[in-house]
Amino acid sequence: MKTRVRFAPSPTGPLHIGGLRTALFNYLYAKKNKGVFILRMEDTDQNRYVDGSEVYIQESLEWCGLLPDEGPKNGGDFGPYRQSERKSLYEKYIQILINNGSAYYAYDSPEELAIAREKSAKKGETFVYGSQNRHLFKNSLTKSSIDKDKISSGDYVIRLKVEPECEINLFDEIRGAIKVSSDLVDDKILMKADGMPTYHFANVVDDKLMKISTVIRGEEWLPSLPLHKLIYDAFGWEAPKFMHLPLILKPNGGGKLSKRDGDKGGYPVFPIKWKSEISGFRENGFLSKAVVNYLALLGWNNGDEREIFSLSELVNCFNSTGIQKGGARFDYEKAKWINHQYIAKTNSNDLLQLPETQKLLKGFNKEKQFKILALVKERIYTLEDLKNETSFIIKPFPYDEKSVRKLKKNNPEKILNKVIEVLKADKEITGFKEELLNWASQNKVKIGTLMQSLRLSFVGRLTGPDVFDICTLLGKDVSLKRVQRLLKHLSLSK
Ligand code: GLU
Repeated sequence: MKTRVRFAPSPTGPLHIGGLRTALFNYLYAKKNKGVFILRMEDTDQNRYVDGSEVYIQESLEWCGLLPDEGPKNGGDFGPYRQSERKSLYEKYIQILINNGSAYYAYDSPEELAIAREKSAKKGETFVYGSQNRHLFKNSLTKSSIDKDKISSGDYVIRLKVEPECEINLFDEIRGAIKVSSDLVDDKILMKADGMPTYHFANVVDDKLMKISTVIRGEEWLPSLPLHKLIYDAFGWEAPKFMHLPLILKPNGGGKLSKRDGDKGGYPVFPIKWKSEISGFRENGFLSKAVVNYLALLGWNNGDEREIFSLSELVNCFNSTGIQKGGARFDYEKAKWINHQYIAKTNSNDLLQLPETQKLLKGFNKEKQFKILALVKERIYTLEDLKNETSFIIKPFPYDEKSVRKLKKNNPEKILNKVIEVLKADKEITGFKEELLNWASQNKVKIGTLMQSLRLSFVGRLTGPDVFDICTLLGKDVSLKRVQRLLKHLSLSK
């Protein structure tokens, strides 16, 4: 059987990284098995529909390089790929279940159901519409003939008729065999009063019609699996394989990672920005390759210590046996560490193409931008760090006075005067490094003191990239001015 998997988000707002991780695992599974990766929009719930979500989802997938083989944008042989455009199919398929007695019309008004629910609540019970009490309600099973008026006015829902006391045998590729009694499943609504299918019904029908071989989705859908299996059984269809991915947990492990956690902790939980309200990993200076790499490690490992994988390496290595059962904690520091690895090894020219980099370096000309990136890219964890790492190029930091006081004990004036002399004589600052190092060794000047003098001059403090590279980047004139400035500062602070 050809591997066909689908990512089936509901367009109810921006795509959380948990959803993106589901998309990634579907993609990896499809590509590993030479199969097809499908995007399907589950947009039948009009009340939860949020404009712009579909475009956002598509853009997030494209940013990460997870291009669907079939989907609303590029089509395919099993479309339409938006459930709202498949209404006639659901109407056709629900009739099969009505005709074979697996589903029935129910006409109870919302008020009647609310009363029943309240009654159960008073007794401390959860209300269930099912085999034990369906005879107490208004439906096509309790009425001798179908209420034609209700049906023509569309004032009904269609429910699955769940048989009591049956054992539902399920199998999850990650969790193994699961047995559930049908008494725990109520007569779920399959078609709503607005004529739209519920998620459960549309999901099963579409997975069947789109020839999905393996359903890969988040663990939050595991409780729906018994119901889905009953719907497959009601049609007499063979169910696909199922794989429920572990939840993505808050950094402290206590519950599912939410947008609020991101707001509180100051980290993104969405791939890209959503309208002007929320910024994503992209806007926070992440490379999409790093995000993909990090997401792959949220619930999967290669069985060894390896942590850096390109998308094609992931495709090669991905194996469902490497997916863990337990929740995966979100770790922003690790995400940044992975991003750091990617920034460091990405060609400066490629980094320069990114709008985020261009925005952060817009004060410099192209040549200087390139040099800056070459100088600092191994030091930064996100592109945002460029702000801090490059500010000294325009203006040095205020002197770190503690370091200045320490330096003063080592006769830095002699060093700084020599630096000025060498800089003045060295037109292109090409021999600068060699000459100063030779001079230091001949004059018993500690290399450490020389470096500190240069660093304080150029940066204002003792951190930053290689001092000689900084000097080349600043150029002779600016470097000279900064050394003279430190010399003056030292004399004034005597
Ligand atoms: N529409 C569901 C969601 O929003 C999809 C669940 C599934 O993949 O079956 O996550």
